Amino acid sequence: MAYDPDNVFARIIRGELPSDRVYEDEDFLAFRDISPAAPVHIIIVPRRERVTSTADLTDADAPWAGRMLVLASRIAREQGVEAGGYRLLLNCGADGGQTVPHLHLHLLGGRALRGFG
Ligand code: AMP
Repeated sequence: MAYDPDNVFARIIRGELPSDRVYEDEDFLAFRDISPAAPVHIIIVPRRERVTSTADLTDADAPWAGRMLVLASRIAREQGVEAGGYRLLLNCGADGGQTVPHLHLHLLGGRALRGFG
């Protein structure tokens, strides 16, 4: 799938749309999901306006993709869900339930999560 630079997360990254930010650095932005599925529901996005989903990843992406997991662990700790546990979720494509075509990691916690789909 070709990357759509007007997707909602690209617009948040460019500051064209507001977001409730909990973390940002030169590579990543993390903000609260607008329709939270759990008491803590954070979206973590790479600032790269190129990667639509995990389907676009290549070996060259391994360093920042790995850092995204480390960052998720840090944000989970800062959001107070480390002790209780949490879920990290990457949806890919239509059957994966992906609705925003910019790779993003969901961090969900603050309640017991059961099952999938
Ligand atoms: P996915 O289904 O994996 O593509 O997840 C997209 C997520 O983005 C959903 O959980 C939406 O609630 C969330 N979302 C959509 N628009 C916004 C927005 N403007 N700010 C924050 N989260 C959003």
